[in-house]
Amino acid sequence: MAIRLYNTFSGKKETFKPINPPEVKLYQCGPTVYAEAHIGNLRTYIANDILRRALEYDGFRVNQVMNITDVDDKMIKRSREEKTNLKEIASKYEKVFLSDMEALNILRPASLLRATENIEEMIRLIEKLIKIGAAYKSANGIYFDISKSDNYGRLAKLKIKNSAVSRILKDEYDKENPRDFALWKFRAEEDGEVFFDAPFGAGRPGWHIECSAMAMDALGETLDIHTGGHDLIFPHHTNEIAQSEAATGKTFSRYWLHTGFVNMENDKMSKSLGNVITLSDVVKRNFHPLAFRYLALTLHYRTPMRFSWEALEASQTALLKLVRHFTEFQSESNGGKINNEYAKNFKEFLNDDLDTPRALALAWRLIKDGNVSDSDKIATLLDFDRVLGFNLEKLAEEFKKTIELIPEEIKSLVEEREKARKEKNFKKSDELRKKIEEQGYEIEDELAGFKIKRNKF
Ligand SMILES: [Zn+2]
Repeated sequence: MAIRLYNTFSGKKETFKPINPPEVKLYQCGPTVYAEAHIGNLRTYIANDILRRALEYDGFRVNQVMNITDVDDKMIKRSREEKTNLKEIASKYEKVFLSDMEALNILRPASLLRATENIEEMIRLIEKLIKIGAAYKSANGIYFDISKSDNYGRLAKLKIKNSAVSRILKDEYDKENPRDFALWKFRAEEDGEVFFDAPFGAGRPGWHIECSAMAMDALGETLDIHTGGHDLIFPHHTNEIAQSEAATGKTFSRYWLHTGFVNMENDKMSKSLGNVITLSDVVKRNFHPLAFRYLALTLHYRTPMRFSWEALEASQTALLKLVRHFTEFQSESNGGKINNEYAKNFKEFLNDDLDTPRALALAWRLIKDGNVSDSDKIATLLDFDRVLGFNLEKLAEEFKKTIELIPEEIKSLVEEREKARKEKNFKKSDELRKKIEEQGYEIEDELAGFKIKRNKF
């Protein structure tokens, strides 16, 4: 059974066939390390992780490459604001990024390539583009001439004339050349010491050329899959295609996968609106990072997500339940076998353009299935976990520890609350419940009494 993936380029689901099976050359656009990634970015990295794991589950060997943009306008601006140098900003936020990835149980790509360590490759590619007449020098930099690109804008389905495209492309790089996009920006006073020597003039690379140069250097002129967030289709990926294909005359990437946006309830989430949520915000609110992974998996990766704290709460509750069931099955289990019927369905759902909502629903069906033994449930859930990536065994350990370790302080608050309830002092009992919850525990009132449990791991 082959995996089918929705290719933005063709606008439909296609059966995936890599150039040299079982190897898959996968490139994904990584972070610009000048601030913490927001949950919109993180959703894309989770989707990429699911893609990689699903391909590996199918027996492919994935050569995954991700760039780290550690030089650009935003970074230079930030380093001036923080009165530090570019390297320090980059290394600070790269560390935060990698620890976010780990907290979300996202597998580390085979190669993480920093832009500043691959300037030579970018210069070579720009020189080639100049040589074949697809790039030209202007007063402030080297530009790509989009009239030299066949089918410019095909990925983004742009059906507008070049002049209209040019207006959209007019960004901070392009004040003097609104027609085209910058490959290289010459050194300017405000750049301070941030510049690299190049035969065509000292300066620094544009963002688009970074990805093309590093992707082709690491994986060859034609990639199997290139991924990114939906917002990268235009201009970033459009420009990557234009410059790469102009240089090689070959298809740059055979499949293009894009993740849907994350919106807040009423607005788009963006730095300019000031409503950006990061993983540290999630953790500050007493959520386990993997609750966000669970939330991401409840939606198909292409569907836009409307984020709310209530939805995250529901995901955390579901994940806790899943882990609780898992620990219950564990106490019974020894030497279980993967249930073939469930494994077959699981594969089928993932191979249908990574349908994680159906894969998750299947895990729940399995949990509740009275015809499957607990030990087989454990074996099958662990098999699913290779792709879902909750790290169930580790979570189960964390869960058991937190159950055992309910502190005396909480226990006495619970007793006090029980007393207040018996005395029908509901105001006091509510206050105590709130206090308990603030410390990361919750009380479930049941007919026959109550239960204390951790509301986070
Ligand atoms: Zn990129």
